[in-house]
Amino acid sequence: MSFRTSSDGKGSLLEHSLHTRGITRREFLQFCTALAAALALPATYGERIARALEARTEKLPVIWLEFQDCAGCSESFTRAYRTSAAQVVLDLISLEYHETLMAPSGKQAEAAREALVERGGYLLVVEGSVPRKEFCTIGGKSAEEILAETAKNAAAIVAVGTCAAFGGLPQAHPNPTQAKGVMEIIRDKPVINLPGCPVNGENITAVIVHFLTFGELPATDEHKRPLFLYGALIHDNCPRRGHFDRGEFVREWGDEGHKKGWCLYKMGCRGPVTFANCPLIMWNDSTSWPIGSGHPCLGCTEPGFWDRGEGFYYPVKIQEVAPPAYYPSSIVRPGKQPDATSYTISGAVVGAAAGAAAAWALLKNRPSEEKRSAEESKEA
Ligand code: SF4
Repeated sequence: MSFRTSSDGKGSLLEHSLHTRGITRREFLQFCTALAAALALPATYGERIARALEARTEKLPVIWLEFQDCAGCSESFTRAYRTSAAQVVLDLISLEYHETLMAPSGKQAEAAREALVERGGYLLVVEGSVPRKEFCTIGGKSAEEILAETAKNAAAIVAVGTCAAFGGLPQAHPNPTQAKGVMEIIRDKPVINLPGCPVNGENITAVIVHFLTFGELPATDEHKRPLFLYGALIHDNCPRRGHFDRGEFVREWGDEGHKKGWCLYKMGCRGPVTFANCPLIMWNDSTSWPIGSGHPCLGCTEPGFWDRGEGFYYPVKIQEVAPPAYYPSSIVRPGKQPDATSYTISGAVVGAAAGAAAAWALLKNRPSEEKRSAEESKEA
């Protein structure tokens, strides 16, 4: 395909960005095709996405509000650098208001926000939970007032991070500020939630591309999370899943199983009940992620995760899922000690029927705690 140039001959926004960043059109098309695949669209949509982005002659204005937050989601977004082509997408937006990043402050900044609200047609991003009015005021207005005022002419609203989506840490018991997620306050506008503590910056980029391409927010689940990003359980894409299916668990920090990369279920991993794409896109330029680093998933993309159980490292707190009651036997060739990868692959393949199906069946038919303890003593 070819890219349009503007009538003044200077090239489109996209063309300028590609040129500035030294990215070839082929690389950009590959990026768009990968995005189409992530959106579960046919590969031909890659070109449609590229054309939609290329057709833009004006940047999409973005207002980014922060309420009860730690700015971790802003940090995550500004450090999103998985592909240089993804940065091109960020060249197509104009971050007009962001309390942490913008140069203006005080009345000047608030006047700029109010002027943009009057013009309308912007994307509103909200980070942090929204407290009751007496707990947060900016420029003499409460957080709730600022949110309502800024939401009124927004084309769409994106709640980034678990605090903005579900209330997060500020909403944890006893919720002293009576914090709420955005969707509990704004009910007459399309709101999409990108939970995570923090949100993965790549997911913000993907939603922006969807909005720029199709002019609307993507399909969501019952918690308003986009299905193309939060449609699968971490457990189902976890590279340690084979170990779960084979009953190979870390039982203590630093034990043999931990060193070998076994399953972290018994250390409190919430991957079996958490929907997110962490195993697929990971973090820090796709170099690693919590489970990859030997730490259990904390379930930070789920509503109310701070209030679940008595702590993060108690395996019995996951009531809905249990490992299979029976495990496939290990096949080890004489003189060969399988490594973590071969354990995972063989576990996934051999245990696919017995393990995965049993794990799913046990969602409804979980063995008693006594029975599991007896089995564990037998294994030991
Ligand atoms: S329980 Fe956690 S570590 Fe184990 S396979 Fe599932 S997601 Fe991975």
